[in-house]
Amino acid sequence: MPVSQYMELCLTHPRYGYYTTLDPFGTSGDFTTAPEISQMFGELIGLWAASVWGVMGEPQALNLVELGPGRGTMMADIMRAVKIVPAFREAVSVHLVETSRSLRERQKESLAEVDRPILWHAMLQDVPRGPAIYLANEFFDALPINQMVRQPDGWHERMIDLDEYGDFKYVIGSDPAPQFDLTVPRHLRDAPVDSIYEWRSPVVALELGRRLQAGGAALIIDYGHLRSALGDTLQAVRRHRFDDPLMGPGLADLSAHVDFEALTMNATQFGARAYGAIDQGSFLLALGIDKRAAALRLKATAETAAAISIAFERLIAPNQTGMGAMFKVLGLCHPSVPILPGFGNAAPGTI
Ligand code: SAH
Repeated sequence: MPVSQYMELCLTHPRYGYYTTLDPFGTSGDFTTAPEISQMFGELIGLWAASVWGVMGEPQALNLVELGPGRGTMMADIMRAVKIVPAFREAVSVHLVETSRSLRERQKESLAEVDRPILWHAMLQDVPRGPAIYLANEFFDALPINQMVRQPDGWHERMIDLDEYGDFKYVIGSDPAPQFDLTVPRHLRDAPVDSIYEWRSPVVALELGRRLQAGGAALIIDYGHLRSALGDTLQAVRRHRFDDPLMGPGLADLSAHVDFEALTMNATQFGARAYGAIDQGSFLLALGIDKRAAALRLKATAETAAAISIAFERLIAPNQTGMGAMFKVLGLCHPSVPILPGFGNAAPGTI
């Protein structure tokens, strides 16, 4: 089967899929995401959303949509933080796009205190249209990737097959994909033999761009590269360690780098403007995470204050241990939105 089908089955198979059966997040799970590291992350994104609502002209009804909410921690932190902007909170209906039943239950628990309408959907296409703010943290990296391998006669699909012992192994599809060269970005077309080029179905990015025609903005946070590149980035993480993606299907989290160049190109197809992508560290500092950390430390015990400092470093540090540079933030908006907060004075652009 193609790598994309393998990845999709491993993650979302209704009985054996990783997200279907396990609670992968947090310090006791397999990996930790930014909202699970600190409440500051969701709080700042909540205030970002409230200020975007302001520059949208304060519409009376707004869909606040999150793709792949995990445990629901980010939305819970958002809805708590925006209590200081009651008119925004009252305008909001929350829409969560989630395939996993067990995670939906987890999200219900996290959001039990939220007194605004909350609706769940299996796909972005099912969310009602209208002015909206879309949020996605570590969602796109979980969408299946296709891997293509350069051969002398063109690009072949990378597939997964069984070896003589019944274990999984990679193989190369026998025929070249017709005309595939035309879809590979120009700067990668002369790739050496055996190079791998990854691509994702553009369906979600296109749908997001199409929906932004009804007004609003989107914030996409994920790890990946700014320009399309070659290389195999499929990775498996199990109990905070890298594992072989072909071992224990459904037992490890599988993800792959987000190609922000391709994502931006698809999401701006219908006229949306793009800001960034910029580093997560720069974005969070522009939103004032240093001030928020200082305010929280003032009220905290010495032990909690130390934990806040560690979380702050993890979220913004641009080194190996931090998410600051590896993670990128892409903003998208309807052209009538004059400026997206958090992206400095950079003029919006499209690729
Ligand atoms: N945003 C959360 C969780 C990230 S993990 C956080 O930052 O902690 C990815 C999330 O996307 C999970 O909730 C998973 O169940 C969901 N998901 C994965 N593939 C999906 C798909 N195709 N459609 C909808 N949700 C999906």
